[in-house]
Amino acid sequence: MSRFLSDKYAALDPYTPGEQPRGKKFIKLNTNESPYPPSNGVIDAIEGKAESLRLYCDPTCTELRAAISENYGVSAENIYLANGSDDILNFAFAAFGQNGVAYPEISYGFYSVFAKLYDIKTTEIPLKTDFSIDPSDYFGLDRLIVIANPNAPTGIALSPSEIEPIIKSNPDNIVVIDEAYVDFGGESCLPLIVKYDNLLVVRTYSKSRSMAGARLGYAFGSEAIISDLERLKYSTNPYNVNTLTQLAGTAAMKDEKYYLDNCKRIIETREYTTDELKKLGFEVLESKANFIFAKSDRISGEDLYLALKEKGVLVRHFGKAEITQYNRISIGAREDMEAFISTVKEILK
Ligand SMILES: *Cc1c(COP(=O)(O)O)cnc(C)c1O
Repeated sequence: MSRFLSDKYAALDPYTPGEQPRGKKFIKLNTNESPYPPSNGVIDAIEGKAESLRLYCDPTCTELRAAISENYGVSAENIYLANGSDDILNFAFAAFGQNGVAYPEISYGFYSVFAKLYDIKTTEIPLKTDFSIDPSDYFGLDRLIVIANPNAPTGIALSPSEIEPIIKSNPDNIVVIDEAYVDFGGESCLPLIVKYDNLLVVRTYSKSRSMAGARLGYAFGSEAIISDLERLKYSTNPYNVNTLTQLAGTAAMKDEKYYLDNCKRIIETREYTTDELKKLGFEVLESKANFIFAKSDRISGEDLYLALKEKGVLVRHFGKAEITQYNRISIGAREDMEAFISTVKEILK
């Protein structure tokens, strides 16, 4: 840290991204990326387009917005686009956090980072003992509420009918539903945006759309909330979605079937992996995401993480006391998961 850094940033506790190893070849099951490539439409859309980088990109993302609008049947004014969904969450905390924020104690690690960045009064709400969220804990809190659904790293999902009373009982604050993993078997709250002007549904191309490296997130909400987010964007970085990403994102929306088929395959592989781990005595939470959260009473979470790494398989381990016995395992291709299971067997032997 230099002596020039503003005091308010010196105390930050930045997010730690999952490892992105260089060199050694790992079976990489630690950051919930898709094991499948972007669709042919995406590859065609950006091929030979390097020349387009000379000009600034379209700050309104008109074509991309139209493609998303058409795919989801939501009008363009209700859609916001950004440099990954982290970029959207960043603005949501900045814009809507003045009454404080509440989110689950075990959830996506970035929420607490943003809360601290903007010095927002924070309520971290414990999960139930089965790691599920109790919706009634969030009724009438009168502050910004942020819930990942399905939740991370548990993978457990709430239904929209369980979430609706949270939105209804906090009419003067924004409820953010972070749907990074909704395409893997969860149910979206998107239909509720016409009914509630305080709902923001956040999505990403990083997981189900095989574009983590392109950095593209999108959000649905009332026209007024979207214009608030635009106001922050035009006060920081109007060109937050680059030209190649806009082209790729537009093409991906038109190849919906390809991505939904991939999601189906990932769900099948998730069920296979869950069954195999259970046969080995693991406890596996019921996941609606492209990862599973599992523990064994035969080996500690950290020891398993380290032993897997030693043998060339990367998973994600968290230090937090309540979940330190667990590992979060991204669902890769079927071959990756077969290799993962046989490595676990070797380690337990
Ligand atoms: C991966 C993830 C994100 C971030 O996605 P990006 O679009 O890559 O920034 C947001 N929320 C949750 C819960 C995630 O797991």
